[in-house]
Amino acid sequence: MSESSYQQYLGTLFEAGTNTIDQSQKSAILLECFRFLHQHHYANCEEYQRITSLSQVKFDRYEDLPFLAVRLFKLYELKSVPQTEVFKTLSSSGTTGQTPARIFLDKQTSARQSKVLVNIMQSFIGKQRLPMLIIDSPAVLKNHTLSARGAGIQGMAFFGRDHTYALNEDMSLNVDAITQFSEKHQGKPVLLFGFTFMVWLHFIKALQQRNLQLPFTDGVLIHSGGWKKLTEQQVSNQVFKETLKEVTGIAKVHNFYGMAEQVGSVFVECEKGHLHAPPFADILIRNPYTLEPQSNGESGLIQVLSMIPTSYPGYSLLTEDMGTVLGEDNCDCGRLGRFFRVEGRLPKTEMRGCSDTAGSTHE
Ligand SMILES: [Zn+2]
Repeated sequence: MSESSYQQYLGTLFEAGTNTIDQSQKSAILLECFRFLHQHHYANCEEYQRITSLSQVKFDRYEDLPFLAVRLFKLYELKSVPQTEVFKTLSSSGTTGQTPARIFLDKQTSARQSKVLVNIMQSFIGKQRLPMLIIDSPAVLKNHTLSARGAGIQGMAFFGRDHTYALNEDMSLNVDAITQFSEKHQGKPVLLFGFTFMVWLHFIKALQQRNLQLPFTDGVLIHSGGWKKLTEQQVSNQVFKETLKEVTGIAKVHNFYGMAEQVGSVFVECEKGHLHAPPFADILIRNPYTLEPQSNGESGLIQVLSMIPTSYPGYSLLTEDMGTVLGEDNCDCGRLGRFFRVEGRLPKTEMRGCSDTAGSTHE
């Protein structure tokens, strides 16, 4: 397959959306693209070539594709374009003391990330740009190298207007800003965005502590970033949603799952509470001990596939997250393709077996 057919396929998926293209049509198209991406990275990234060394193998199913462990992006500078074409470098937040992952973007990959993110998000929240309350501090965008958190906010900011930051630099509520925003947009459609744990701790709980109630009955919250810290505090998705509704009036909530190593390729939670693979990406599950592919309904390590990255070899990644594919083409929300749930991170003790670091890109 040539680069122009890859572009054509991308166009087809853009037009299709999740409501018209089923799993078998989609995986046929994606597999073609992944074969192309494999050849491309094999030819242009020495490390990828050494890690996979499978240039002649035919890939008849997703399961046959080579995959890289996400932590490799912390250990190596993986790119498939010359340094002169790198126009942006993303770094994952990483826990203190650990090397963050670095993701090298050229103009095409970066543009593709934005285009795909727009396509996916609009299918959930519509095309209209809504007044937007960002549950973070504006300081997050000030760092010299853009953090994954900053990049996430920049990416989502596109979907809103009248951007207001709800937090001060020390993560306390910016009550004045929130009050002004509330008075202006009370009862109207608004968009809120933030990282899951920050939304819970620094927004929902902080509002509760101050006995503040917000008037966003027609609002929608998009949030992302992993449930680990919330699970530790025994906050389930249901408790999260109920408490959010109590303090802000918001009943529409979409969590999304995505890797810093595959920006743009997001898996958004539908109205039925399931994460959906968008037309441009897919997932499969592997047994954490044997790495054998699992059947639908069986829990294991999540492998994410995305047709976006050409500037770095990140189209097929084995994450350190556990999850289960719940079904294909039959979610009650009407979207086609695979849907799944994330069950948390592989416990560190078990991870030692297959890796020497246990960093997280989305805690
Ligand atoms: Zn659904």
